[in-house]
Amino acid sequence: MTIIADSLQAIQANIIAAEHSAGRINHTLLLAVSKAQTADKMRSAYLAGQRAFGENYVQEAITKQASLSDLAIDWHFIGPIQSNKTALIAQHFDWVHSVDRLKIALRLNEARGQNVAPLNVCIQINSSDEISKSGVDIESLAVLALAISHMPQLKLRGIMAIPAPTKDLAIQHAQFKIVADVYKTLKQKFELDTLSIGMSDDYVVAIAEGATIVRIGSALFGARI
Ligand SMILES: *Cc1c(COP(=O)(O)O)cnc(C)c1O
Repeated sequence: MTIIADSLQAIQANIIAAEHSAGRINHTLLLAVSKAQTADKMRSAYLAGQRAFGENYVQEAITKQASLSDLAIDWHFIGPIQSNKTALIAQHFDWVHSVDRLKIALRLNEARGQNVAPLNVCIQINSSDEISKSGVDIESLAVLALAISHMPQLKLRGIMAIPAPTKDLAIQHAQFKIVADVYKTLKQKFELDTLSIGMSDDYVVAIAEGATIVRIGSALFGARI
């Protein structure tokens, strides 16, 4: 299990190096994406200092939350959201990265308890305009952001995107730059601090383009089972 501690340390070093070459210091949060990974592996990562974990499937996450309830984990939901899961998501997570329509935002707002901190929300954008991919299109983003900014139990933090995977570094930069520009434009109208871009294969490029959260699964935990 020290493999996870080693990977964590290596990723953190890469993040710091990427921040330095981008002229930024300590602004990137490493989100450990633990979907299809065991609670034991998550505990190892926690013991090595990791606090924020990202999950894609509600039931799987709730099961693991029960076995890790002794740990002070920040839980982020990053998967596609079905409307019949919004209550569970609102009650079991601190963050949601994948809000992509008004109906979901309304339901999360309604289900979030009033005696807890507002649910931190990122809007997922579809930056490459592929019909099959989830995420709001860039034209509708401002409208959704405005609606969410008026919801008392939600706190709009920023945007999330999953550009089409490619090994071409120039294309990675170009895709993340599109998202970063959308973020900068939105930031002129709303108080935002979160640009959630970058995964195991492209997080260094994402940081160069301004990521504040990178979502890393396989590079930290190994291949998913
Ligand atoms: C699975 C997943 C990740 C992590 O992917 P890796 O390539 O394993 O780092 C990040 N973000 C989202 C939305 C995911 O579904």
